[in-house]
Amino acid sequence: MVIKTEKDYFIYINLDGFGKYYYDLANKYENGTPNLNGLINEGTFFRNLYTGIPSITFPMQSSIVTGGYSNLTGNCYQYFDKKEGKLIKCNHDNEGETIGEVLNTLDKPFVSIQQFGLRDKGCSFDDDKFVYFQPGGNFKVRFQLLQDIISGKTVKSREREYVFESLPEFIFFYADDLDALGHNPEYTSYAPSRKKALTENDRISSVVERLKEIDNEIGKLVEALKSKGVYDKTTLLITSDHGMISYKGKSSLPKLIKKLNDMGFEKVTLIDENSRVSGNIKKNEVIIAGTGIQCQTYFNEDIDLDELKMELDSEDYIEKCLTQEELIEKGIKEEFADILISPKEFMHFNLDINKDFILDASHDSIHEKCQKVFGVIKGPKVCRGKIYEDKAYNIDMIPTACAMLSLPLMKDTKGKIIKDIII
Ligand SMILES: [Zn+2]
Repeated sequence: MVIKTEKDYFIYINLDGFGKYYYDLANKYENGTPNLNGLINEGTFFRNLYTGIPSITFPMQSSIVTGGYSNLTGNCYQYFDKKEGKLIKCNHDNEGETIGEVLNTLDKPFVSIQQFGLRDKGCSFDDDKFVYFQPGGNFKVRFQLLQDIISGKTVKSREREYVFESLPEFIFFYADDLDALGHNPEYTSYAPSRKKALTENDRISSVVERLKEIDNEIGKLVEALKSKGVYDKTTLLITSDHGMISYKGKSSLPKLIKKLNDMGFEKVTLIDENSRVSGNIKKNEVIIAGTGIQCQTYFNEDIDLDELKMELDSEDYIEKCLTQEELIEKGIKEEFADILISPKEFMHFNLDINKDFILDASHDSIHEKCQKVFGVIKGPKVCRGKIYEDKAYNIDMIPTACAMLSLPLMKDTKGKIIKDIII
């Protein structure tokens, strides 16, 4: 029996580290993700969806739920504070308003299954109406919790028990298996029997294999919503915070330092959280902060950054540089970097210049593999079977969903409502 309901439902699934190329590879020779493809057929698929900078988990997860990058959230992971002379870590800061806070203000209850961008930003542990769950574990544990909530079973957040007699109207879900496997670590509890891949093909295969397992869970979710009679009333959004790129061998940082020396910057200082730099940056000085792959550089205010960028762009280990002005245009706060330098694939600016990496992967890069992410939305107000070709950003997704659900937008949101996909 199909139960009639007047409610609208919204489920936002974030699969951390879901670069679009993984999806493309899974579907190159076969229908590798039949359930995601089912959603794509019933909704709108974003073929050119991008994340922001830096493409690092916490800043991007909070950007998505806030609808803006660090010029709104204040969180750009880290930046060198020129006045204080030290590297500031942004940790879990988010100065913007999240979709969770919007729903909280409207008194519309929701649950978050480990979507930590909303933790204490709309929901929390021990809140009866705005419940934050942190089950940990891999995707199976989290999808099981979601199934239990849908089927009205008793579920637990820490020591508190909950029974959702009717389906929560808003559900936020997060799983990070693709990220954990994508990094190609020596060991991960997400796949205990898996070994570190020694080739890029093997690394990608292990991620794609997990993607297919997640796809299977998405199929079960669709079935559960159908049997509950709410599927047609549910807006379902799936997207990600960043992709992933491999790197190996030794750091290109010594080459960059030599280049900077040759250009007249005699003093190059590498900084971390514990470093202190006194006084203003002199004309012949550079400060470099790293996050593993890309690096943030800081100069004296009289240095012509455009000129510098042009010269650096021609180096064979650099894929792309972005000046402060270009970064600001992309919605990044001005303190982030004077010039952001991102290397070519397989190269890196790791601050550990002696380490010889076998095959590691991460996502703090402006390479397409990190920037381009998966994105699909389906629901009663979404165009069916549409491939959206225009460039869009993951910060546009929640504002667009808000418009579909007749919800007010987050305060000062920068994300666009993509009207072309709304019916
Ligand atoms: Zn991430």
